[in-house]
Amino acid sequence: MHKQPGLATANTTVFRLLRLLGILALVALAACDSKPPPGVADSRSPAKPAQVDAARVANADSEPGNWLVHGRTYDEQRYSPLNQINRDNVSRLGLAWEAPMDSRRGLEATPIVVDGIIYTTSTWSRVRALDARTGELLWEHDPGVDRAWGKKLCCDVVNRGVAVWQGKVFVGTLDGYLVALNAADGKPLWRVDTLVDRDRFYSITGAPRVVKDKVIIGNGGAEFEVRGYISAYNVDSGELDWRFFTVPGSASGPFEHPELEQAATTWSPDSNWQGGGGTAWDSMAYDPELDLLYVGTGNGGPWSHYARSPGGGDNLYLASILALRPDSGRLAWHYQTTPGDSWDYTATQHMILADLEIEGRLRKVLLQAPKNGFFYVLDRGNGELISAEKYVFANWASHVDLDSGRPVLTGLADYSEQAKYVFPSAAGGHNWQPMSYSPATGLVYIPAREAGWVHNEAGDKWFEFGVDNLEELAGDQDIPPTRGYLKAWDPVAQKLVWQKETANIWNGGALATAGGLVFHGTATGHLYALHDQSGEVLLELPIGTGMIAPPISYAIDGRQYIAVMAGWGGPAFNTLGGDEALLDFDNAGRLLVFELDGAPVPLPPPVPPRGPIPPQPELATDAATLERGRLLYVYNCGGCHGMYGSTPMLPDLRRMTLEKHALFQDIVLGGLLENAGMSSFADTLSEAETEAIQAYIVSLANASRDE
Ligand code: CA
Repeated sequence: MHKQPGLATANTTVFRLLRLLGILALVALAACDSKPPPGVADSRSPAKPAQVDAARVANADSEPGNWLVHGRTYDEQRYSPLNQINRDNVSRLGLAWEAPMDSRRGLEATPIVVDGIIYTTSTWSRVRALDARTGELLWEHDPGVDRAWGKKLCCDVVNRGVAVWQGKVFVGTLDGYLVALNAADGKPLWRVDTLVDRDRFYSITGAPRVVKDKVIIGNGGAEFEVRGYISAYNVDSGELDWRFFTVPGSASGPFEHPELEQAATTWSPDSNWQGGGGTAWDSMAYDPELDLLYVGTGNGGPWSHYARSPGGGDNLYLASILALRPDSGRLAWHYQTTPGDSWDYTATQHMILADLEIEGRLRKVLLQAPKNGFFYVLDRGNGELISAEKYVFANWASHVDLDSGRPVLTGLADYSEQAKYVFPSAAGGHNWQPMSYSPATGLVYIPAREAGWVHNEAGDKWFEFGVDNLEELAGDQDIPPTRGYLKAWDPVAQKLVWQKETANIWNGGALATAGGLVFHGTATGHLYALHDQSGEVLLELPIGTGMIAPPISYAIDGRQYIAVMAGWGGPAFNTLGGDEALLDFDNAGRLLVFELDGAPVPLPPPVPPRGPIPPQPELATDAATLERGRLLYVYNCGGCHGMYGSTPMLPDLRRMTLEKHALFQDIVLGGLLENAGMSSFADTLSEAETEAIQAYIVSLANASRDE
């Protein structure tokens, strides 16, 4: 059911030495006409590309010119040991090259760089391999996702990247397939259907990870009440090895694996067993020493605990960090950040593994800033909570009790009887945009936001838009202004060190480097480089394209590059701050690669003037119809088209002509524009309901014209 729109150790001396050794090795090898060591020099396509394996990933610091896996290393610190670009010279950063991505929607991928080749993804799960020095396209693969699948997505037709392993490139597709491509030419080697039910609203947007001989992939869809799970496939054959369901399928079994029997005791027997949520749609990390694979799980589906599990209970394993044995898929431990989630507080956010000295002891920790607003430091060997503090304003819980490891709820958490203005919002204090940890500063850089959300169970409204009594709902709380931030967080002291504010709440991920810098892009279309200790802005490069993806760094022939996928998008519930790049410039997606003394970045063509709102048909204007239309619109349309009839990423519904309006039923129910990604809603909406939605859109258009 389309009920809820998815709102829903840096050591520079060592590095220089390594580089010198690399150059010496190159000279020696050139004499005997052998291949240079990986990551140092050769940017031409090697005969056998993409030879990533466990040994190379484990020793990733010995080849800092490559970015071998999603978080660069298994611990997902997203820290580059490269330091050629540094505090002293970053102001000279300019364009090395750019490559178009044939997209006007959100680009979220982390590019992978192996031996002179970049592997990345565009919208609709399309994969591209490019020469990392020139940007020349080597091959592309379009998995041919049926555009009608767009309806099954909460948060744009995005993809967060590929995994590259032993000559193969793995991608998860929006329509639920896991595909292995030949890294040499992009031709498919095998393709498996990862979905347990193709009729449900499952999707894959996350990047696969490879651990040992398995490629691991989860999926999304908790907003649409699917049942979450994560699967492991053999890298060579594509055969399913194991599958871990994150929530039980019923109160009494049968249970697919023993962990579910215990999990079922945390759901009330009268639970809505349609799915439950808990989708593992993004974050993973791996500790080879402990041999534990960490997976973050998503929110409950439906959101409301009262509707999902009326008798209460924690509802394991929603909003949890799972530590799985990669060989068997068995659970070693779990930590639930948000028991009985009712607020879309996923724990799918980026997890970082680090070794930190805490109270005199070196601890192997896992760091996460999930949506719920608390920054967690866990012992990653056993899941023990070490500390948890608020990294943004959060009013649903006062604190996390260290003995029980549980949040202590405030009265604002319960919206079963009346609407509550809850912080953080469903967008989370932090969402999927990756953080970065610098071992040099000991700080975690969090792409964060301050924002609230009105949850309301009364009258079948699980959330609400356009409420005018926010002040009343806020009461005497000191509500922060709605803003985006990059926050530098000390995970040992659990406190903020510095922060940089942006108007929009939806910006890019972070990259820390041994150059003493933190890079991140913003919705305004600026690439920033900040002093990693002070937050001082050392570079503010206008590129004219909004960014949500995380930058990476690589090097070829001794030259360091910064790369980022530029193209703004994601869930349309994001409020616009008014200074977004896509309001002024064409949001054409591109891969941008920067170098010292590079060229000026060409700005995209300006957005053409939009002209006045055309004449609108005369439809019902009574308050009851418009309110019904508004709610139906919010639930069914707003997730993609914006909660107020428009989003810069899709056609502005307020600007529909009389001709378009005449076809409204044919489009919404008849599927007239299915090939463009606008699916039929005949299974969820009646003709009368569609008419009410149309009347509401007309009222928005007329109101906008009058403004
Ligand atoms: Ca969600």
